[in-house]
Amino acid sequence: FDDRDGVIWFDGKLVPWREAKIHVLTHALHYASCVFEGERAYDGQVFKLTEHSERLVKSADLLGFKIPYGVAEIDAATNQVLKAMNLKDAYVRPVAWRGSEMMGVSAQQSKIHLAIAVWEWPSYFSPELREKGIKIQWSNWRRPAPDTAPTASKAAGLYMICTLSKHEAERNGCADALMLDYRGQVAECTGANVFLVINGEIHTPKPDCFLDGITRRTAIELARRRGIKVIERAIFPDDLKKAQEFFITGTAAEVTPVGEVGEQKFTVGAVTRQMMADYSAEVRKPASQRSAAE
Ligand code: PMP
Repeated sequence: FDDRDGVIWFDGKLVPWREAKIHVLTHALHYASCVFEGERAYDGQVFKLTEHSERLVKSADLLGFKIPYGVAEIDAATNQVLKAMNLKDAYVRPVAWRGSEMMGVSAQQSKIHLAIAVWEWPSYFSPELREKGIKIQWSNWRRPAPDTAPTASKAAGLYMICTLSKHEAERNGCADALMLDYRGQVAECTGANVFLVINGEIHTPKPDCFLDGITRRTAIELARRRGIKVIERAIFPDDLKKAQEFFITGTAAEVTPVGEVGEQKFTVGAVTRQMMADYSAEVRKPASQRSAAE
C-alpha cells in the first residue's frame, strides 16, 4: 500500500506518498498510542466530515493525548488532500499517534503527529455478496468492558481483536465476524455496527462498550424518518432467532445485508433494501439539504 503515486497530508504538509514514513521506535507502534478515523467522500464532499474530525479529537483525548490541530484545521486538511489527489469518491484515513522522541510505556512529552491519506475504495464487500447478503461467523473474541479499555475511542489497540476475528472468519469462508461483548451481549462486527429486523421493527445494541458509528446514527435517523420503529437495547445471541433480516452499517461497509450468521439465515428484505437505498441517497445530498436533526 505504501508504493503508490500521490500525496499524503503529514504534519501540516503534503508529502509524496512513498515518503510518508515513520521511525521503527515510534511509541504508537510499540504501545498502540494511536487513533484513527475512516471516512468516505461522495461527489467531492466528505460525508459528515466534522463529526469524524470531532470523533478523532475525542478518541485522542480518551487516550490522553492532544492532537495539535483543531477540528476546523483537520476538516481543511482533509479537503486539501482530497483535492490534491483529485478524487471525488474516496475513502479517507486520518491517523494520529505518539512519535519516536521517547521510548518506554511513559512518553508524556512525545510529539503528536497527524496524517491524512485518501484513496479509491469502491465497495468494502463485493457487489455480488452485497446483493444476496454476506455470510458472517461468531467470533471467539469479545469486546472488552469500558473499565478494561477506552472503548469509546477509535483506538488502534482495540483493532487487535478485530483483525484476529476477521482473519479467523476469512479462513472459514466468511466475510466478517460478529463479536459479543464482555457480558455475552451482541456487540458489533469488526468494522461495522449491527441491526436486526424483527417484525418490521429495527433492534440494535446500545453502544456502551463499542464504537457508536456515525453510519449507525445516520441509519437510525433515516429509519425513524420513514416511520420505522428503532429500539436500542441489550441484544442476546438468542434474539437472532426472532429476526427476519440482519444488516450492518459502517463508513466503509455503508449498509450491507447479512444473509447468514453461523447457522442462522436471514433474507435481504424490504426494511434492509429501504435502508440501503435511503443511505445511498443521503450520502450524495449536499449537506445543506440534509435534515438538521442529524
Ligand atoms: N465498529 C467498528 C469496530 C468500526 O471499525 C467501525 C468503522 N469505523 C464502526 C463500528 C462503524 O463506525 P462508522 O459508522 O462511524 O464508520
